[in-house]
Amino acid sequence: MEFQLSKRIQALPPYLFVELDRKKADAVARGVDVIDLGIGDPDLPTPDFIVEKMREAVANPAYHRYPSSQGMERFRESAAAWMKRRFGVECDPGSQICCIIGSKEAIAHFPLAFVDPGDVVLVPTPGYPVYHIGTLFAGGETYYMPLLPENGFLPDLDSIPADVFRRTKIMWLNYPNNPTAALATQTFFEKVVALAREYGFIVCHDAAYSEMTFDGYSAPSFLETPGAIEVGLEFHSLSKTYNMTGWRIGFVAGNPELVAAMKKVKSNVDSGQFEAVQEAACAALDSDQSCVEEMRAIYTERRDTLVEGLRSAGLDAPSPKATFYVWVPVPEGQTSAGFSSLLLEEAGIVSTPGNGFGEPGEGFVRMALTVPRERLEEAVERVRRVL
Ligand SMILES: *Cc1c(COP(=O)(O)O)cnc(C)c1O
Repeated sequence: MEFQLSKRIQALPPYLFVELDRKKADAVARGVDVIDLGIGDPDLPTPDFIVEKMREAVANPAYHRYPSSQGMERFRESAAAWMKRRFGVECDPGSQICCIIGSKEAIAHFPLAFVDPGDVVLVPTPGYPVYHIGTLFAGGETYYMPLLPENGFLPDLDSIPADVFRRTKIMWLNYPNNPTAALATQTFFEKVVALAREYGFIVCHDAAYSEMTFDGYSAPSFLETPGAIEVGLEFHSLSKTYNMTGWRIGFVAGNPELVAAMKKVKSNVDSGQFEAVQEAACAALDSDQSCVEEMRAIYTERRDTLVEGLRSAGLDAPSPKATFYVWVPVPEGQTSAGFSSLLLEEAGIVSTPGNGFGEPGEGFVRMALTVPRERLEEAVERVRRVL
Protein backbone atom coordinates (compact mmCIF):
# COMPACT_ATOMS: atom_id res chain seq x y z
CA MET A 1 0.00 0.00 0.00
CA GLU A 2 1.10 3.52 -0.65
CA PHE A 3 -0.58 6.18 1.37
CA GLN A 4 -1.03 9.67 0.07
CA LEU A 5 -1.18 12.33 2.75
CA SER A 6 -3.92 14.90 2.29
CA LYS A 7 -3.05 18.25 0.77
CA ARG A 8 -3.79 19.91 4.08
CA ILE A 9 -1.25 17.76 5.92
CA GLN A 10 1.28 18.19 3.13
CA ALA A 11 0.78 21.95 3.43
CA LEU A 12 1.80 21.97 7.12
CA PRO A 13 4.74 24.29 7.73
CA PRO A 14 8.10 22.58 8.28
CA TYR A 15 9.00 21.99 11.90
CA LEU A 16 11.67 24.60 12.44
CA PHE A 17 13.19 23.16 15.57
CA VAL A 18 14.40 19.87 14.04
CA GLU A 19 18.02 20.99 14.04
CA LEU A 20 17.80 22.41 17.55
CA ASP A 21 16.14 19.27 18.90
CA ARG A 22 18.90 17.18 17.34
CA LYS A 23 21.61 19.37 18.87
CA LYS A 24 19.90 19.17 22.23
CA ALA A 25 19.69 15.37 22.05
CA ASP A 26 23.38 15.26 21.08
CA ALA A 27 24.34 17.45 24.03
CA VAL A 28 22.34 15.30 26.44
CA ALA A 29 23.95 12.15 24.96
CA ARG A 30 27.42 13.70 25.46
CA GLY A 31 26.53 14.11 29.12
CA VAL A 32 26.19 17.92 29.01
CA ASP A 33 24.18 19.29 31.94
CA VAL A 34 21.55 20.91 29.72
CA ILE A 35 19.39 23.76 31.09
CA ASP A 36 16.20 23.71 29.04
CA LEU A 37 14.61 27.15 28.68
CA GLY A 38 12.91 26.09 25.48
CA ILE A 39 9.63 24.73 26.74
CA GLY A 40 6.51 26.70 27.66
CA ASP A 41 5.27 24.10 30.11
CA PRO A 42 5.22 24.87 33.86
CA ASP A 43 7.65 22.72 35.87
CA LEU A 44 5.58 23.28 39.04
CA PRO A 45 2.95 20.73 40.08
CA THR A 46 -0.81 21.36 40.08
CA PRO A 47 -1.80 22.76 43.51
CA ASP A 48 -2.71 20.04 46.04
CA PHE A 49 -6.33 21.11 46.61
CA ILE A 50 -7.05 20.64 42.89
CA VAL A 51 -5.41 17.20 42.84
CA GLU A 52 -7.37 16.25 45.99
CA LYS A 53 -10.65 17.29 44.35
CA MET A 54 -9.76 15.14 41.33
CA ARG A 55 -9.03 12.17 43.61
CA GLU A 56 -12.51 12.43 45.06
CA ALA A 57 -14.24 13.16 41.77
CA VAL A 58 -12.66 10.27 39.89
CA ALA A 59 -14.46 7.86 42.24
CA ASN A 60 -17.88 9.31 41.43
CA PRO A 61 -19.70 6.88 39.09
CA ALA A 62 -21.84 9.72 37.73
CA TYR A 63 -18.68 11.04 36.06
CA HIS A 64 -17.82 7.74 34.40
CA ARG A 65 -20.37 8.28 31.66
CA TYR A 66 -20.17 10.45 28.55
CA PRO A 67 -19.95 14.12 29.44
CA SER A 68 -21.77 16.74 27.38
CA SER A 69 -19.46 18.39 24.89
CA GLN A 70 -20.33 21.92 26.05
CA GLY A 71 -19.33 21.08 29.63
CA MET A 72 -21.30 20.53 32.86
CA GLU A 73 -23.59 23.32 33.97
CA ARG A 74 -21.62 23.49 37.20
CA PHE A 75 -18.38 24.08 35.27
CA ARG A 76 -19.92 26.74 33.04
CA GLU A 77 -21.30 28.48 36.15
CA SER A 78 -17.86 28.47 37.79
CA ALA A 79 -16.28 29.88 34.63
CA ALA A 80 -18.95 32.61 34.36
CA ALA A 81 -18.53 33.55 38.03
CA TRP A 82 -14.76 33.71 37.54
CA MET A 83 -15.16 36.00 34.49
CA LYS A 84 -17.42 38.26 36.55
CA ARG A 85 -15.12 38.37 39.61
CA ARG A 86 -11.93 38.69 37.64
CA PHE A 87 -12.93 41.11 34.84
CA GLY A 88 -16.42 42.34 35.69
CA VAL A 89 -17.61 40.65 32.46
CA GLU A 90 -21.09 39.10 32.62
CA CYS A 91 -21.49 35.84 30.70
CA ASP A 92 -24.60 33.71 30.75
CA PRO A 93 -23.38 30.18 31.62
CA GLY A 94 -26.04 28.67 29.34
CA SER A 95 -25.29 30.57 26.15
CA GLN A 96 -21.98 32.36 26.56
CA ILE A 97 -19.59 29.72 27.95
CA CYS A 98 -18.40 26.41 26.49
CA CYS A 99 -15.94 24.02 28.09
CA ILE A 100 -12.95 23.12 25.90
CA ILE A 101 -10.31 20.36 26.03
CA GLY A 102 -7.54 22.93 26.42
CA SER A 103 -7.34 26.04 24.24
CA LYS A 104 -5.27 24.33 21.58
CA GLU A 105 -8.15 22.08 20.66
CA ALA A 106 -10.60 24.98 20.50
CA ILE A 107 -8.24 27.27 18.59
CA ALA A 108 -7.72 24.55 16.00
CA HIS A 109 -11.45 23.70 15.73
CA PHE A 110 -13.19 27.08 15.94
CA PRO A 111 -12.36 28.20 12.36
CA LEU A 112 -14.26 25.15 11.03
CA ALA A 113 -17.43 26.98 12.03
CA PHE A 114 -16.78 30.14 10.00
CA VAL A 115 -13.93 29.79 7.52
CA ASP A 116 -14.48 28.65 3.94
CA PRO A 117 -11.93 28.43 1.13
CA GLY A 118 -10.97 31.95 0.09
CA ASP A 119 -11.72 33.46 3.49
CA VAL A 120 -8.92 35.32 5.25
CA VAL A 121 -7.83 34.78 8.83
CA LEU A 122 -5.56 37.41 10.40
CA VAL A 123 -2.80 35.78 12.42
CA PRO A 124 -0.08 37.44 14.52
CA THR A 125 3.52 36.54 13.72
CA PRO A 126 5.67 35.60 15.60
CA GLY A 127 2.93 33.66 17.33
CA TYR A 128 1.42 30.44 18.58
CA PRO A 129 1.44 28.14 15.52
CA VAL A 130 -2.10 26.82 15.99
CA TYR A 131 -3.84 29.98 14.66
CA HIS A 132 -2.38 29.27 11.23
CA ILE A 133 -2.87 25.51 11.43
CA GLY A 134 -6.57 25.90 12.28
CA THR A 135 -6.93 28.24 9.30
CA LEU A 136 -5.16 25.77 7.03
CA PHE A 137 -7.33 22.85 8.18
CA ALA A 138 -10.46 24.91 7.52
CA GLY A 139 -9.23 25.74 4.01
CA GLY A 140 -8.77 29.45 4.77
CA GLU A 141 -6.01 31.82 3.85
CA THR A 142 -3.68 33.18 6.53
CA TYR A 143 -2.76 36.86 6.38
CA TYR A 144 0.09 37.45 8.80
CA MET A 145 0.18 40.50 11.05
CA PRO A 146 3.81 41.14 12.06
CA LEU A 147 4.46 41.90 15.74
CA LEU A 148 7.40 44.28 15.78
CA PRO A 149 9.26 45.96 18.64
CA GLU A 150 8.64 49.45 17.20
CA ASN A 151 4.87 48.88 17.60
CA GLY A 152 5.13 47.38 21.07
CA PHE A 153 4.51 43.97 19.45
CA LEU A 154 0.94 44.98 18.57
CA PRO A 155 -0.17 44.44 14.95
CA ASP A 156 -0.07 47.59 12.84
CA LEU A 157 -3.77 47.64 11.98
CA ASP A 158 -3.39 50.60 9.62
CA SER A 159 -1.07 48.57 7.38
CA ILE A 160 -3.72 45.93 6.63
CA PRO A 161 -5.38 46.69 3.26
CA ALA A 162 -9.15 47.24 3.21
CA ASP A 163 -9.66 44.45 0.66
CA VAL A 164 -7.99 42.04 3.08
CA PHE A 165 -10.26 43.21 5.90
CA ARG A 166 -13.26 42.73 3.61
CA ARG A 167 -12.34 39.06 3.09
CA THR A 168 -11.48 38.53 6.78
CA LYS A 169 -13.57 36.13 8.84
CA ILE A 170 -11.43 35.95 12.00
CA MET A 171 -8.70 38.01 13.62
CA TRP A 172 -6.58 36.16 16.21
CA LEU A 173 -5.02 38.10 19.06
CA ASN A 174 -3.09 36.91 22.12
CA TYR A 175 -2.27 39.22 25.03
CA PRO A 176 -0.33 38.87 27.27
CA ASN A 177 1.57 37.52 24.28
CA ASN A 178 3.51 34.37 23.58
CA PRO A 179 6.35 34.65 22.53
CA THR A 180 6.99 38.41 22.92
CA ALA A 181 5.46 38.85 26.43
CA ALA A 182 3.84 42.06 25.12
CA LEU A 183 0.70 43.56 26.64
CA ALA A 184 -2.33 45.00 24.88
CA THR A 185 -3.58 48.50 25.54
CA GLN A 186 -7.23 49.47 25.91
CA THR A 187 -6.88 51.83 22.92
CA PHE A 188 -5.66 48.95 20.78
CA PHE A 189 -8.59 46.72 21.77
CA GLU A 190 -11.00 49.59 21.04
CA LYS A 191 -9.55 50.03 17.58
CA VAL A 192 -9.91 46.28 16.95
CA VAL A 193 -13.59 46.38 17.97
CA ALA A 194 -14.23 49.33 15.64
CA LEU A 195 -12.61 47.52 12.69
CA ALA A 196 -14.42 44.26 13.43
CA ARG A 197 -17.75 46.11 13.42
CA GLU A 198 -16.89 48.00 10.25
CA TYR A 199 -15.84 44.92 8.27
CA GLY A 200 -17.92 42.30 10.06
CA PHE A 201 -15.19 39.94 11.24
CA ILE A 202 -14.85 37.88 14.41
CA VAL A 203 -12.21 38.65 17.01
CA CYS A 204 -10.78 35.62 18.81
CA HIS A 205 -8.67 36.53 21.81
CA ASP A 206 -6.38 33.88 23.28
CA ALA A 207 -6.06 34.82 26.95
CA ALA A 208 -3.93 31.86 28.07
CA TYR A 209 -1.59 34.13 30.07
CA SER A 210 -4.16 36.50 31.59
CA GLU A 211 -3.21 35.42 35.14
CA MET A 212 0.53 35.05 34.69
CA THR A 213 1.29 38.69 35.47
CA PHE A 214 3.81 40.51 37.66
CA ASP A 215 4.57 43.77 39.44
CA GLY A 216 0.89 44.41 40.16
CA TYR A 217 -0.08 44.41 36.47
CA SER A 218 -3.55 42.98 35.84
CA ALA A 219 -4.29 41.90 32.27
CA PRO A 220 -7.67 42.96 30.87
CA SER A 221 -10.13 40.67 29.14
CA PHE A 222 -10.79 41.65 25.53
CA LEU A 223 -14.48 41.32 26.47
CA GLU A 224 -14.18 44.33 28.81
CA THR A 225 -13.81 46.56 25.74
CA PRO A 226 -17.10 48.31 24.92
CA GLY A 227 -18.80 46.47 22.04
CA ALA A 228 -16.46 43.47 22.24
CA ILE A 229 -19.27 41.07 23.10
CA GLU A 230 -20.81 41.82 19.69
CA VAL A 231 -17.73 40.59 17.84
CA GLY A 232 -15.62 38.55 20.19
CA LEU A 233 -14.83 35.19 21.66
CA GLU A 234 -12.18 34.73 24.35
CA PHE A 235 -10.21 31.53 24.89
CA HIS A 236 -9.31 30.83 28.52
CA SER A 237 -7.10 27.98 29.65
CA LEU A 238 -6.40 26.56 33.09
CA SER A 239 -3.07 25.19 31.79
CA LYS A 240 -0.73 28.01 32.76
CA THR A 241 -2.76 29.59 35.57
CA TYR A 242 -2.96 26.45 37.71
CA ASN A 243 -0.08 24.35 36.31
CA MET A 244 -2.61 22.07 34.64
CA THR A 245 -1.19 21.64 31.13
CA GLY A 246 -1.65 17.87 31.29
CA TRP A 247 -5.28 18.07 32.39
CA ARG A 248 -6.58 19.61 29.14
CA ILE A 249 -9.21 22.05 30.28
CA GLY A 250 -10.31 25.59 29.55
CA PHE A 251 -13.34 27.49 28.31
CA VAL A 252 -14.45 29.96 25.69
CA ALA A 253 -16.54 32.96 26.71
CA GLY A 254 -18.23 35.70 24.74
CA ASN A 255 -20.75 36.30 21.98
CA PRO A 256 -23.64 33.76 22.21
CA GLU A 257 -23.71 33.06 18.44
CA LEU A 258 -19.97 32.38 18.42
CA VAL A 259 -20.25 30.17 21.50
CA ALA A 260 -23.13 28.28 19.88
CA ALA A 261 -20.98 27.72 16.77
CA MET A 262 -18.12 26.42 18.92
CA LYS A 263 -20.53 24.02 20.61
CA LYS A 264 -21.81 22.89 17.22
CA VAL A 265 -18.32 22.01 15.98
CA LYS A 266 -17.34 20.34 19.23
CA SER A 267 -20.49 18.26 19.56
CA ASN A 268 -19.54 16.77 16.20
CA VAL A 269 -15.89 16.00 16.95
CA ASP A 270 -15.64 15.26 20.66
CA SER A 271 -17.75 14.34 23.64
CA GLY A 272 -16.34 16.82 26.08
CA GLN A 273 -13.83 16.64 28.89
CA PHE A 274 -14.02 14.01 31.68
CA GLU A 275 -16.40 15.47 34.26
CA ALA A 276 -14.00 14.67 37.10
CA VAL A 277 -11.49 17.01 35.43
CA GLN A 278 -14.24 19.62 35.12
CA GLU A 279 -15.03 19.28 38.82
CA ALA A 280 -11.35 19.71 39.73
CA ALA A 281 -11.26 22.75 37.43
CA CYS A 282 -14.25 24.22 39.32
CA ALA A 283 -12.24 23.91 42.54
CA ALA A 284 -9.45 25.90 40.87
CA LEU A 285 -11.73 28.63 39.49
CA ASP A 286 -13.82 28.93 42.69
CA SER A 287 -10.76 29.12 44.96
CA ASP A 288 -9.42 32.28 46.59
CA GLN A 289 -6.69 32.35 43.89
CA SER A 290 -3.93 32.34 46.49
CA CYS A 291 -2.25 29.55 44.49
CA VAL A 292 -2.09 31.97 41.55
CA GLU A 293 -0.48 34.59 43.77
CA GLU A 294 2.16 32.01 44.82
CA MET A 295 2.82 31.12 41.18
CA ARG A 296 3.31 34.82 40.38
CA ALA A 297 5.81 35.21 43.24
CA ILE A 298 7.86 32.26 41.99
CA TYR A 299 8.00 33.51 38.40
CA THR A 300 8.76 37.07 39.52
CA GLU A 301 11.81 35.82 41.37
CA ARG A 302 12.91 33.70 38.43
CA ARG A 303 12.34 36.53 35.98
CA ASP A 304 14.46 38.91 38.04
CA THR A 305 17.25 36.35 38.30
CA LEU A 306 17.31 35.72 34.56
CA VAL A 307 16.79 39.29 33.37
CA GLU A 308 19.30 40.87 35.74
CA GLY A 309 21.80 38.14 34.91
CA LEU A 310 21.38 38.50 31.15
CA ARG A 311 21.77 42.26 31.47
CA SER A 312 24.95 41.86 33.47
CA ALA A 313 26.21 39.62 30.64
CA GLY A 314 25.63 42.52 28.24
CA LEU A 315 22.32 41.43 26.72
CA ASP A 316 19.50 43.94 26.32
CA ALA A 317 16.86 41.73 27.98
CA PRO A 318 13.51 43.38 28.77
CA SER A 319 11.75 42.49 32.02
CA PRO A 320 8.33 41.08 31.10
CA LYS A 321 5.22 42.17 33.05
CA ALA A 322 3.46 38.95 32.07
CA THR A 323 3.94 35.40 30.74
CA PHE A 324 6.85 33.15 31.64
CA TYR A 325 8.87 34.16 28.58
CA VAL A 326 11.75 36.55 28.17
CA TRP A 327 12.04 37.76 24.56
CA VAL A 328 15.70 38.52 24.30
CA PRO A 329 17.23 40.50 21.40
CA VAL A 330 20.31 38.63 20.15
CA PRO A 331 23.70 40.37 20.26
CA GLU A 332 24.64 42.66 17.36
CA GLY A 333 25.60 40.74 14.23
CA GLN A 334 24.02 37.44 15.35
CA THR A 335 20.93 35.61 14.08
CA SER A 336 18.29 33.87 16.17
CA ALA A 337 19.45 30.44 15.03
CA GLY A 338 23.13 31.30 15.42
CA PHE A 339 22.76 32.68 18.92
CA SER A 340 20.52 29.82 20.01
CA SER A 341 23.14 27.32 18.73
CA LEU A 342 25.91 29.22 20.49
CA LEU A 343 23.99 29.09 23.78
CA LEU A 344 23.45 25.38 23.40
CA GLU A 345 26.92 24.43 22.24
CA GLU A 346 28.96 26.71 24.47
CA ALA A 347 26.70 27.00 27.51
CA GLY A 348 24.41 23.96 27.41
CA ILE A 349 21.36 26.24 27.41
CA VAL A 350 18.30 25.52 25.28
CA SER A 351 16.48 28.62 24.04
CA THR A 352 14.01 28.93 21.17
CA PRO A 353 15.08 30.91 18.10
CA GLY A 354 12.52 33.70 17.61
CA ASN A 355 12.11 33.11 13.86
CA GLY A 356 10.73 29.64 14.68
CA PHE A 357 7.53 31.48 15.68
CA GLY A 358 7.49 33.40 12.39
CA GLU A 359 10.01 35.40 10.37
CA PRO A 360 9.46 38.73 12.19
CA GLY A 361 10.75 36.94 15.30
CA GLU A 362 14.22 36.94 13.70
CA GLY A 363 16.70 38.75 15.92
CA PHE A 364 15.26 37.33 19.17
CA VAL A 365 15.44 34.17 21.23
CA ARG A 366 12.75 33.11 23.68
CA MET A 367 13.74 31.89 27.13
CA ALA A 368 11.11 30.29 29.35
CA LEU A 369 11.17 30.64 33.14
CA THR A 370 10.29 26.99 33.55
CA VAL A 371 13.28 25.86 35.63
CA PRO A 372 14.06 26.58 39.32
CA ARG A 373 15.86 29.77 40.27
CA GLU A 374 19.18 28.00 41.03
CA ARG A 375 19.22 26.66 37.50
CA LEU A 376 18.63 30.16 36.13
CA GLU A 377 21.54 31.41 38.26
CA GLU A 378 23.68 28.69 36.73
CA ALA A 379 22.41 29.59 33.24
CA VAL A 380 23.29 33.23 33.75
CA GLU A 381 26.77 32.30 34.97
CA ARG A 382 27.32 30.28 31.81
CA VAL A 383 26.03 33.07 29.52
CA ARG A 384 28.47 35.49 31.19
CA ARG A 385 31.34 33.14 30.51
CA VAL A 386 30.38 32.73 26.86
CA LEU A 387 29.77 36.38 25.94
C1 LIG B 1 0.12 27.50 26.40
C2 LIG B 1 -0.69 28.26 25.44
C3 LIG B 1 -2.05 27.97 25.29
C4 LIG B 1 -2.74 26.97 26.19
O1 LIG B 1 -2.93 25.81 25.57
P1 LIG B 1 -3.79 24.65 26.24
O2 LIG B 1 -4.18 23.87 25.06
O3 LIG B 1 -4.96 25.28 26.94
O4 LIG B 1 -2.90 23.91 27.17
C5 LIG B 1 -2.80 28.71 24.40
N1 LIG B 1 -2.24 29.72 23.71
C6 LIG B 1 -0.96 30.05 23.86
C7 LIG B 1 -0.43 31.21 23.12
C8 LIG B 1 -0.13 29.31 24.70
O5 LIG B 1 1.15 29.63 24.82
